[in-house]
Amino acid sequence: MSRFLDERYSGLDPYVPGEQPQDRSYVKLNTNESPFPPSPRVIAAIGGEEAEKLNLYSDPMAATLVRAIAKRFTAVLKKKGLPGISEKQVFVGNGSDEVLAFAFGAFCGKGRGVAFPEIGYGFYPVFAQFFSLDATPVPVKEDMSVDAAAFKGLSQTVVIANPNAQTGIYLPLSDIETLLSENKDRLVIVDEAYCDFGAESAVGLVGRYDNLLVVQTMSKSRQLAGGRVGFAIGSEEVIADLNAMKFSFNPYNLNRLSILAGAAAVEDEEYFLSATAAVIEERERLKKEFGKLGFESTPSLANFLLVRRGGIGGRELYLALKQKGVLVRWLGGRLSDYVRITVGSREQNDVLIAAVREILKEKSI
Ligand SMILES: *Cc1c(COP(=O)(O)O)cnc(C)c1O
Repeated sequence: MSRFLDERYSGLDPYVPGEQPQDRSYVKLNTNESPFPPSPRVIAAIGGEEAEKLNLYSDPMAATLVRAIAKRFTAVLKKKGLPGISEKQVFVGNGSDEVLAFAFGAFCGKGRGVAFPEIGYGFYPVFAQFFSLDATPVPVKEDMSVDAAAFKGLSQTVVIANPNAQTGIYLPLSDIETLLSENKDRLVIVDEAYCDFGAESAVGLVGRYDNLLVVQTMSKSRQLAGGRVGFAIGSEEVIADLNAMKFSFNPYNLNRLSILAGAAAVEDEEYFLSATAAVIEERERLKKEFGKLGFESTPSLANFLLVRRGGIGGRELYLALKQKGVLVRWLGGRLSDYVRITVGSREQNDVLIAAVREILKEKSI
């Protein structure tokens, strides 16, 4: 720490991202990326012409991307007989981490604070610290599922990842709706980074509840983790607040290439559906395979599994797999017994299973 650092930040405990090794190639199953390349439409959109315009600032409203998101979600909602969403109900950011940061800054300050499940996305407490917010971690149930009832009566802004980070456990939409309806003066932020792998999105509730903000990312289900595109859908007023935050910080938060990449990704519904279906199928296969090897896993509806097994610790398994060229995530703390494994392609998962089998054999368990 230099002697110049503001005292407010001297105790900062920064978020630790999963390893992104640049030295050797691993079967990389540690940060919940998609195992597939971006849609060919994304590659086509960012090649050539747009790259030649990088001397010019990007569109601060990222209108091409906002329009594409509004159009896609309107189509999905209309199919369910629900009203669509307008472009004024969409906010876009440099990854959903940035969207969440703006939301924490805007809606969780003095006199309000923020409440989130104690097991969940590790960035929430970091944002709370960064913005000097009052943070209330809410205990989860015995089975690690989010205890919606424990939020009843809390006046803080609520942030819940659904399906939850780390566990992949899904909180039924009816519980989200209860949180929304029991206190309409409390904002509920639902972080749906993992909702495209078989869970139901809360976007359909946006039309009925102006205290709902749904946050999604293109990092997990749309092959753009490195493109950094996240977005939020909510009431026009809440979205206008987020834009005021952004225009007070970094108006050009999305670069030219990411705007076009994000728009092309969200327009290619067919590619999205087949990629997410493949991940869901592989998740269920992996779960079975791990079961056969004596592991238990949480009922994950995300693109990862959280697994543990008697006879081998989480850190031990993580290290043994790493030695065999397979990178998974050991989360430590309350989840020390577990490793979190991103669902990869069929080939990657086969390598993973073979490595786990070998490790168990070497340990004679
Ligand atoms: C991955 C993840 C994010 C961040 O996604 P980016 O868009 O890549 O910043 C946010 N919330 C949860 C729960 C995540 O798992």
